[in-house]
Amino acid sequence: KAKDAGKGKYVIFDQPLNDDFSERMNIEKQLYAAMEQQEFELYYQPQVDLAQNKITGLEALLRWNSPVLGYVSPLKFIKVAEDSHIIIPLGAWVLQKACDFLKKLHGQGFTELTMSVNISMLQLLQTDFNELVVDTLQASGLEPHYLELEITESVLVESYDYVSDKLKQLRDLNIKIALDDFGTGYSSLSYLTHLPISTLKIDKSFIDTIRTGTNQSTLVEEIILIGKRMSMSVVAEGVEKTGQLEYLQEQGCDKIQGYLFSRPLAADAIVELLAGQAEV
Ligand code: C2E
Ligand code: MG
Ligand code: MG
Ligand code: MG
Repeated sequence: KAKDAGKGKYVIFDQPLNDDFSERMNIEKQLYAAMEQQEFELYYQPQVDLAQNKITGLEALLRWNSPVLGYVSPLKFIKVAEDSHIIIPLGAWVLQKACDFLKKLHGQGFTELTMSVNISMLQLLQTDFNELVVDTLQASGLEPHYLELEITESVLVESYDYVSDKLKQLRDLNIKIALDDFGTGYSSLSYLTHLPISTLKIDKSFIDTIRTGTNQSTLVEEIILIGKRMSMSVVAEGVEKTGQLEYLQEQGCDKIQGYLFSRPLAADAIVELLAGQAEV
């Protein structure tokens, strides 16, 4: 600590950096244990199709309740899992678990539901990633077109040619690709035209700018138009207010995901929600 170093002494790390470093070390240490002790769980957030007014898809989201650290947000531990490469086995587990759950839901009569799974750059850069996806689908008995892989633009910046080839192979297998957090990265429209992207997910930060009662053209409107022009499905992330929903409906956004409709839920709660919807 800076003040322990005494007057006049040179301190290399300032307090926040030091804390951040030890926090990440702590998380990394616990992540290994978490894999072994099966402390991870998948939650699922519904994606609602606005034209049909029903849940047509789910996004799988990792949850970790550490007996040592308590609840740790994926925003924190995914980065550490990437740096330590734990994301490779962890990501494989997520994919398998999500596919198995969707297959189970199909068996319970929710036959047209899709599953979106977040994929880290490091996973995509593994030479055997596409094989893993194919093997996982086979093991679960799920048809490929029900699976959507969510990637972020950072993936594309780093190794564009390699990644785009792999994405094209996945597309040829009928697997869907979504561009997550759209608008927050180094977006280039050429990515959109040259990559087999089927879904554009507008980042929450843009949805937050939607003001009810004003007629101003926002970036959201432009993004929806771009998506439509490229025959992509457009999903709005982080929809929390009815005013936002109304605006998105007016602009022809295809789907919404957000607390307004539902938070991410455990598997049991999702089954309940779907069953309730089927009765309406
Ligand atoms: P993401 O893929 O963009 O997921 C959307 C995040 O927004 C989720 O946070 C979700 O819970 C949150 N969210 C959804 N609707 C609302 C809303 O109306 N209001 C607010 N405030 N938040 C909303 P979560 O679950 O904490 O995940 C954060 C990020 O962690 C994800 O962002 C994704 O990048 C990453 N992540 C989560 N699970 C996985 C995983 O299995 N693999 C990888 N590689 N990354 C994951
Ligand atoms: Mg996502
Ligand atoms: Mg997102
Ligand atoms: Mg994200």
